[in-house]
Amino acid sequence: MLMVKAHAKINLALGVVGKRSDGYHLLESIMLPLELHDRVEVEIIPSNYGGTFITCDDISVPTDETNLVHKAFALMKQKFNFKQEFRIHIHKIIPLSAGLGGGSADAAAVINALNRILKLNLSRENLIDIAYQIGADVPFCLFNRPAYVTGIGEKLEEIKCHDRYYVLLAKPKEGLSTRQIFNDYDTMQIDKKVDMKELKAALQKGDDQDIAGNMINALEEPAFIRMPSVQKIKEKLVELGFTKVLMTGSGTCVVCLSKDLKALQKAESEISSLAYFTKITETLS
Ligand code: ATP
Repeated sequence: MLMVKAHAKINLALGVVGKRSDGYHLLESIMLPLELHDRVEVEIIPSNYGGTFITCDDISVPTDETNLVHKAFALMKQKFNFKQEFRIHIHKIIPLSAGLGGGSADAAAVINALNRILKLNLSRENLIDIAYQIGADVPFCLFNRPAYVTGIGEKLEEIKCHDRYYVLLAKPKEGLSTRQIFNDYDTMQIDKKVDMKELKAALQKGDDQDIAGNMINALEEPAFIRMPSVQKIKEKLVELGFTKVLMTGSGTCVVCLSKDLKALQKAESEISSLAYFTKITETLS
């Protein structure tokens, strides 16, 4: 049995740079991996067990073909035509519909696990080529390195961050549908310029002020309108004096970065009445 860590991600910046004729949004983002992770166990089962199946200890996660892990397995099977069948168990820790990429992380973990168990020796390009077909965040989750991500998630440029941060995660109970937020975005006139180059340089230098100034997410506005509680969490953290605060992905989790663990712990208790879920983790370098 192989156990793989499936790390959550955060977006430090997220911009919409275009839309394809099929409605797919082209994004650019700077993403950091977090220590917070699901654990995915992958184990070969005998051929008389009735085929590959997924289990999860969180009953709100679907274990049918809509699970991104199933999509990853089906794509790998189609491409490499292996005979082995598997039991895949997801030990869920990453909150759902948070913008923390939990499903994408699980799918990437399964691609990496099958590559190792079946000794496929896939190159970085081979792995990315499978991953982007599952979702735009999946290629990033294969490697868990800070990166500037473009295209449909398949172009990754690694960033060497000067510092590591503690990260307070805070989200209301409800999640938001990614599709809904993009639909809302399309109907709004949002002109948020995100300077990825400046943010990249600031991360490399460890320039906290520039990092804070360039943490922008074009999806915040539509998400705040759908769910004012997300905006309230962000505003409270800013009011407490934090500068590196942003909603991640399409929400609903707000992330707050700091090098001061004690200050984050204090903030965590101060926002407990606003946020249903809170957790302190750290970035991976
Ligand atoms: P992203 O930031 O990539 O949009 P997210 O963190 O907002 O992701 P997820 O938690 O990955 O959202 O998943 C959202 C929905 O996807 C879930 O409500 C669930 O129905 C479905 N899903 C499919 N596979 C998984 C999985 N392995 N883990 C969690 N959710 C999954």
